Amino acid sequence: MTLEEMITAVQTALGAEPDGKAGPETWSAIYKAVVLKKSGAKVVVPEMTAADPRSEKSIATLATEVQPLARALVHKAAAAGITIKVISGLRTFDEQNALFAQGRTTPGNIVTNARGGYSNHNFGIAFDVGVFEGNKYLGESPKYKAVGALGMDIGLEWGGSWKTIVDEPHFQLRPGWANDLTERQMLAELRDRVGGGGPVFA
Ligand SMILES: [Zn+2]
Repeated sequence: MTLEEMITAVQTALGAEPDGKAGPETWSAIYKAVVLKKSGAKVVVPEMTAADPRSEKSIATLATEVQPLARALVHKAAAAGITIKVISGLRTFDEQNALFAQGRTTPGNIVTNARGGYSNHNFGIAFDVGVFEGNKYLGESPKYKAVGALGMDIGLEWGGSWKTIVDEPHFQLRPGWANDLTERQMLAELRDRVGGGGPVFA
C-alpha cells in the first residue's frame, strides 16, 4: 500500500473526504491509532509500501509503533522531491557506551554526550536520517530543515528544533505517557520500563 493509499484508508475510516493528502487531522488520527492505541480505536493503520533497503534495515530495529512513521517520512520526503534514508535506528546500551567512549578513551571525535541508557536511540523510539543526492550522502544541507517540518507534521519530534544540542538528522516518537515529561524524566522512565522488561509505549 502506498503512503497515499494508506492515508486515503485512514481518511475513509475517519469519515473525512478521502483525498490521500494528509493534513494535521489525519496524521493526528494515525498518531493516536499507532501510539496511543486507545482501546476501541476506530482507525486501523494499514501496512505501507516499504522504503529503500538501507532504510528498511534501520527501520526494522525500531519499535513497531515508530516504524510506520519512519517509513511515512521517507515517502513524504520523496513526494517533496527530497531523497532521505533512515541511516540509524536502535543502538544497544553497549553500542551507545562505545560511542560515548569515542573521543574520550578511544580515538576519534566526541559524537555524543549520552552514555548507554541515556539516548532515545537505546529504546527504539529514535532514528536518524541522511539526505542524499543520487548516491551521495549530504551531512549538511538545507533540505534537513524541510524534512524536519515534514516529520513534525506527522507527529514526530525533530532534533533540529532542540534548544540545547541541535540535531537536524534526528527524529523521535514520544510515547503518550511521556507527553508532560522532560527529556530527562522520559529517559529515566524508559530505563525503568526496559530494565523491568516492560513495554516502551503502552
Ligand atoms: Zn539521533
